[in-house]
Amino acid sequence: MKIENLQLRALPPTPDADSTPFWEALADGRLQLTRCGSCGTASFPPIPSCPRCAADTVVPVEASGSGRVYSWATIHIALDPTFADDVPYTIVAVDLEDGPRMLGRLLDRDGPPAAGLAVRLVPYRVDGNVLPGFRAD
Ligand SMILES: [Zn+2]
Repeated sequence: MKIENLQLRALPPTPDADSTPFWEALADGRLQLTRCGSCGTASFPPIPSCPRCAADTVVPVEASGSGRVYSWATIHIALDPTFADDVPYTIVAVDLEDGPRMLGRLLDRDGPPAAGLAVRLVPYRVDGNVLPGFRAD
């Protein structure tokens, strides 16, 4: 995936031991999820055990980043001054075709999305950090 350089505001991610591989992959233009070696459930955010069967045999897998909008919230009032120049903006909850639901900023600014809208993950860079965004597919 091509990483877009955008003039948006963002708070930096705070990677931990479980999420560092996800952030490193995203900075390389890839979406990395985890998949359970026991039941096959893909999950996000990355955690060390399966959220479905609790097996501790999760392995990293690359995902396409394609999915459909499940829901969204458009932010009109910035609760953090960091985002004051970006409002209004929209955060979408996307059901990835690889399984899990994932949140990210909707990078298209032509109005609110519709439930079921096909989108694709677009990593974007702000102040040296690469974050997950989505655009209509
Ligand atoms: Zn499992």
